[in-house]
Amino acid sequence: MIELRNLRKTYGHGPRAVRALDDVSISVPAGEIFGVVGRSGAGKSTLLRTVNVLERPDSGTVTLDGTLMTGLEGGALRQARRSVGMVFQHFNLLANRSIQQNVEFALEAARVPRGKRASQAAEMLDLVGLKDRGGAYPAQLSGGQKQRVGIARALAAKPRVLLSDEATSALDPETTESILDLIRSINRELKLTVLLITHEMDVVKRICDSAALMENGAIVEQGELVEVIRTP
Ligand code: ADP
Ligand code: ADP
Repeated sequence: MIELRNLRKTYGHGPRAVRALDDVSISVPAGEIFGVVGRSGAGKSTLLRTVNVLERPDSGTVTLDGTLMTGLEGGALRQARRSVGMVFQHFNLLANRSIQQNVEFALEAARVPRGKRASQAAEMLDLVGLKDRGGAYPAQLSGGQKQRVGIARALAAKPRVLLSDEATSALDPETTESILDLIRSINRELKLTVLLITHEMDVVKRICDSAALMENGAIVEQGELVEVIRTP
């Protein structure tokens, strides 16, 4: 479960200050997919980075499955972050490593013992439909396949929460659908709680249980999908 309470964040000072988060509160029940939709500059990336405290809010709290993330620092925060996986718009794969090695690298960062990494990485590549492609390098893959690796990597350390930063924005419509369907099926299979940000309402309509509309750092609409998409 993701609990964001009264988050505020301002960048800069004085007349140039930008209020990126203006009293944002969101609850995502365990196992649900929640979408935050809004234009560029609305504050979505800031919000997402606040969830695992890559960005520290000026005030407000982030609680993940009962752990007060905003109360942690240093090693304790790094350890708590391992329960959060993240998927990126531009995949962020290591070009000089095979996709198997890309996933193993994430496992190493998560302190998974060396002897378990190869099998756990292979299991994740199987989950995303890339069973026999472990030896391939990122440049040999299509955009959709790269994002499948991104998802495998995000899930490798078996997080409870998945954060998705415009995961399909660099993909064509057909590939977008297949990646969204994959996220949906993994959400169901692993009972993963998912928070995604996007500028595309179609993404929200396809896979989210609930959603919020963000403008100028604030949530202007929030609810079950049917309510949000009725607003103009
Ligand atoms: P979105 O993801 O919806 O495009 P962002 O969270 O990236 O929105 O940005 C929200 C606002 O905060 C924008 O006005 C942006 O320019 C500003 N902003 C984001 N990051 C920084 C930063 N590190 N320093 C200063 N301003 C920032
Ligand atoms: P995106 O919307 O795709 O996340 P942005 O261009 O908004 O990309 O942001 C890219 C990076 O630049 C982010 O780390 C963000 O915090 C930072 N950033 C965005 N706006 C500003 C700004 N006005 N001043 C400084 N850094 C910014």
